[in-house]
Amino acid sequence: MASDVQTHAIGESAGTGQYRCCKCGGELTLTGPRDQLPPCPQCGTGADVRYTPVDGHASTSKGIESQQR
Ligand SMILES: [Zn+2]
Repeated sequence: MASDVQTHAIGESAGTGQYRCCKCGGELTLTGPRDQLPPCPQCGTGADVRYTPVDGHASTSKGIESQQR
């Protein structure tokens, strides 16, 4: 109950930004405000697949785009 983290399901238009799959931890980026969250490439389209927004606010992790698990 202490978690203020918003979660978004597949198909939601969560807005531009980076999101992380709650299940596998994989990250993806929505580049358009009307983009919908796609099914996770690893988890598929499960109903329990949810995404949490990754706060890229003043993050120094920019440039690290290694998607090599
Ligand atoms: Zn996943």
